[in-house]
Amino acid sequence: MNVFAMRTALTGIKPTHVPHLGNYFGAIRPALRLVESHRTAFFIADYHALTTVRDPNALRGYVYDVAASWLACGLDPARTIFYRQSDVPQVFELSWILSCFVATGQLERGVSYKDALAKGESPNAGILCYPLLMAADILVFDADVVPVGADQKQHLELTRDLATRINHVYGEGTLVVPEPLVTEAPLVPGIDGQKMSKSKGNTIPLFIGSKQLRKLCLSIVTNSEPLEAPKVAQGSTVYELFKLVASPEEAKAMEEKLARGGYGWGHAKEELYEVLEALLAPMRDRFSQFRNDPGELDRILKQGAERAREVAAQTLERVRARIGIR
Ligand code: AMP
Repeated sequence: MNVFAMRTALTGIKPTHVPHLGNYFGAIRPALRLVESHRTAFFIADYHALTTVRDPNALRGYVYDVAASWLACGLDPARTIFYRQSDVPQVFELSWILSCFVATGQLERGVSYKDALAKGESPNAGILCYPLLMAADILVFDADVVPVGADQKQHLELTRDLATRINHVYGEGTLVVPEPLVTEAPLVPGIDGQKMSKSKGNTIPLFIGSKQLRKLCLSIVTNSEPLEAPKVAQGSTVYELFKLVASPEEAKAMEEKLARGGYGWGHAKEELYEVLEALLAPMRDRFSQFRNDPGELDRILKQGAERAREVAAQTLERVRARIGIR
């Protein structure tokens, strides 16, 4: 790699649900900011979803949902490579190659596989092998860095292991050994104060209508201090969410109003709704424009896939030559 060139950062997006505010502040916004400092690629991991999604219409719909979501959040296809995993067949070829270099025991220690077993499920081989597919996604693209949250560094370990092992056997430079790029991202609370998560039913979905958005803001759990009581902003769900969206000055002003008393949690919730609506209204409009135009989404993803396949074909050419598939 030319050390003077920008490093390549690759982000995978699992098409399982329309994002919520936690996904936006915790994953989407930090990933999109990398465009300023890196060559970036974003792919929709549709074959990963096949380990669990069995309804073809739902799978097709989820892919369009996440494509429209990321575009609505500001992904600019002219500045990044945005593609569907399934449009890059080299990923699956590399996945097979990688499978010949991993001990089955290492896959059996994978978190998702172990979780499924612990829940008493009989996981399919896709769940066992999904870390290999993830490694192939990354390695086929010669990614230098993969953005991860602070607690997810180990997700990349198998990928790094495999690349290092293959380089040891076939020579340095066969594969690029990627590094984790730890992104600073806040932990976003849900309306009940616990971590916002689809499975907990406490989310603020990104593109809901403004009435529903207001209703959700007003339903945020607070304690029942009287209106006149001075209140502590820090640690309250309303304020923590407000701080993510509002300017530092607006956040300071709310903190002072709460501390002074005579300003209730209801007022704070209304203010939260207003800043959220200002942020989300334009994104909601863009989302519905894209979501109602699958032809345009297909066109954007197809264009991205052409560029992704060029990179992937070069990687496979190099790998095949080194391993003796000629
Ligand atoms: P998930 O919705 O569980 O598929 O999450 C996808 C990604 O969104 C995670 O890997 C996190 O980076 C981010 N994320 C999800 N929920 C939150 C949250 N409550 N706060 C911050 N980041 C989150």
